[in-house]
Amino acid sequence: MSVFDHIPMGEEGLKEVYRWLDSFVEENKRIARKEVLGKSPDHWDIPAVFITNRDMADDHKQIAVVTAARHGQEFGARVVAPEILRFLTGDEASEIRDSQVVIVVPVVNPEGFVANQFCSSRTSLTKTERFILGGLFRTYPPDMIIDYHSLGEGSGSMVDIGDMEVILPANTTRWAMDEQIHLHVAQRMVDAAEEAGWPYEIHTLEDLATYYFGEREVGNLPWTSLKEKMFLLHMQDSHDDYDIPEAAAMNTSTVQAGQSTYTNYTCGPAYMKWHSLVFGMETNHGAIRDAGDVAESGLAPCAALLKMGSGRFAWEKDPGYPVNILHGDFRVSIRPVGKNAAERRASRIRIWGERNHFNYPQREMMDLNTTIARVRYFGEDLPMEFALCLRMRQSHVHSVSIGGKEIDFETFRDRCSTYVYIPLTMERAGVLEATINHPPAKKS
Ligand SMILES: [Zn+2]
Repeated sequence: MSVFDHIPMGEEGLKEVYRWLDSFVEENKRIARKEVLGKSPDHWDIPAVFITNRDMADDHKQIAVVTAARHGQEFGARVVAPEILRFLTGDEASEIRDSQVVIVVPVVNPEGFVANQFCSSRTSLTKTERFILGGLFRTYPPDMIIDYHSLGEGSGSMVDIGDMEVILPANTTRWAMDEQIHLHVAQRMVDAAEEAGWPYEIHTLEDLATYYFGEREVGNLPWTSLKEKMFLLHMQDSHDDYDIPEAAAMNTSTVQAGQSTYTNYTCGPAYMKWHSLVFGMETNHGAIRDAGDVAESGLAPCAALLKMGSGRFAWEKDPGYPVNILHGDFRVSIRPVGKNAAERRASRIRIWGERNHFNYPQREMMDLNTTIARVRYFGEDLPMEFALCLRMRQSHVHSVSIGGKEIDFETFRDRCSTYVYIPLTMERAGVLEATINHPPAKKS
């Protein structure tokens, strides 16, 4: 049985959801707390529910955020967040509670909920969203955000082209393998959803662009994917960074009012700002008529995603969401440093903000026992601390040195290779060259 067997509608529906949230938090006090992030323009509370195991230190946890119902007429999104909350109380989610703070904002847009209408912005995040999410993310910059919408004929989205449920990797660049990484995660979400009986597909932002801008009539503009990453559709306001309106108004680079822009998912700016793992979701209340089924189909991929955030991805040094390749590729990359999740998050955000001031890291095999890696940093945020990470065919590494002096390193493995992770500090802009000494490669 799902939490809701009907789609709550209008003002009574919003009150029903809020009553349910209060009793949920009351019944799960040990792991759940509610915080009102702010109010909608018509003075409805916008609550968030935080779920975590309080016996474990937050410094060691990932920050995962679920938002829903920013578009008021997308009714299906109303029942998904309560289902996710209930999942988070179960035995199946105990590892998630131990290793993550999961923050669920079930109704981003209460005004739209009450009116049963869009009531959102087509030009950016709304002022309310900037205020409430900006405030939340100042303390909890997310490692992952998933934002729920819903398709549905007529009363639903104009872009419903028939019976889809969709996962949208919402990364707005292909930097540092992000396209592959987001698609890899999305495919695992699809697999889990299908295992539970819910057919999903993955659409990229380019595909989303065709819903909006493609021409369906034969003979006009072709109905085809655009070949560039659709930054412009997803968050045309590149200054949309969750700043509160007062701060934004003082920022002279803020886009002019009236400029035609569009931000579809709440998570796009988080990718640009903090290199968060970001997904848009489209459930479907048109094709799936039972509210409980909409909720369960929405939960399935999210549950899989949250579980992934407690495991270790093969190319990652530590458990958590795969957001730590900040430059380069799987062979040679620039990564955050830090002894726990909180320190690595802060390091990640700092390096990501400086990514344009690193060159593409280089590697070269000098002989069977020696690999050299070089990185150039030419920014001003000094001393710059980061790690250089190389994927090696060799089964282990003897030593790493810079200028003939041995330095500390760590290794970790995937199923067929060794990663050498070398923390470095650059005191001034320039080039660092590390020499890695290893036995000859053989198949391991
Ligand atoms: Zn929507």
